[in-house]
Amino acid sequence: MRAAVFRGAFDIRVEQIPDASILESTDAIIRITHACICGTDLWPYRGQSPYTPGWQIGHEWMGMVEDVGPDVRTIKRGDRVIAPYDFCDGTCEFCRKGLDSACLQGGLWGYGHERGQAEAIRARFADAALVALPSAVGGDEALLKALLPLTDNMAAGHHAAVSAGVRPGGTVAVIGDGAVGFCATLAALRLGAERIIVLGHQAQRPTLARQFGATEVVTSRGEQGVLQVIEMTGGGAEAVLECVGTEEAITMAVNMTRPGGTVGFVGAPQGSGQIPLGRMFASNIGVRGGLAPARAYLPELLNEVLEGRLNPSPILDLSVSLDEIAAGYAAMDQRQAIKVMVRP
Ligand SMILES: [Zn+2]
Repeated sequence: MRAAVFRGAFDIRVEQIPDASILESTDAIIRITHACICGTDLWPYRGQSPYTPGWQIGHEWMGMVEDVGPDVRTIKRGDRVIAPYDFCDGTCEFCRKGLDSACLQGGLWGYGHERGQAEAIRARFADAALVALPSAVGGDEALLKALLPLTDNMAAGHHAAVSAGVRPGGTVAVIGDGAVGFCATLAALRLGAERIIVLGHQAQRPTLARQFGATEVVTSRGEQGVLQVIEMTGGGAEAVLECVGTEEAITMAVNMTRPGGTVGFVGAPQGSGQIPLGRMFASNIGVRGGLAPARAYLPELLNEVLEGRLNPSPILDLSVSLDEIAAGYAAMDQRQAIKVMVRP
């Protein structure tokens, strides 16, 4: 089968690799119909995180079940399934608590495991990790595109909003105008926030941010951005959703949170990860969040999309075939696309 393979910085190639096959009795083989390039895939792509040349890449995917191992009970051949970016066993202490991202036998697709930017994948713990879509979804492409971000970015945005305690009528600041920031904006809107201030410095994106539900947009960075939000809100936002992961972003988040408020952080930390502990102490600011438990959130968010109350599909503004995937990476790297859908 064909799969995207990382060969070094700025070098993603489509190569012929051995067909996906069942290795454990709880595995399933999925023919991938839709996948995405994630913002975090750009780190190995840019040579900014250790990734071994020869590893497959891609952790966001959906597809059709082609085969199942003898111990798979709920997922059947012919089902259309969606996978969270993290695989999990569904039985350990953390899975039972709804924290599948900390599963004792879990992990992320890729990083040496099976990957989703390919024609097919061997899915571990198929019953626990995968969710079958209702047959009524069929091949409705618009609906499938709206479901695809639930694999990762929409789960992360929702996690930021839940972790920060977004409440009806509340004031929220979202740091980041990428795919996760826009999903966090949608999540804050869905949870009833009245004011949503999106911070991002990409000139072409303020209009987009408004389309996702931002009521105000701030394009200043660093201390200037913080001062602006404090002034606009008369003392800071009670919930701040940090969707970038840099030290600058987390510092901004803590510094623009209203005393007693909470930062929901879902940007994967890059750099030293220092946060302003003094300000957290002096103003009783909480910082919660981390790797989203995407599997635990899937049933709720899936239902929202199926009922027509949530549609993150506009983050997918470019679609490529598997053979064109290198161009998809380049477009995201050069910020010509927010997020790329891959159709193997
Ligand atoms: Zn587990």
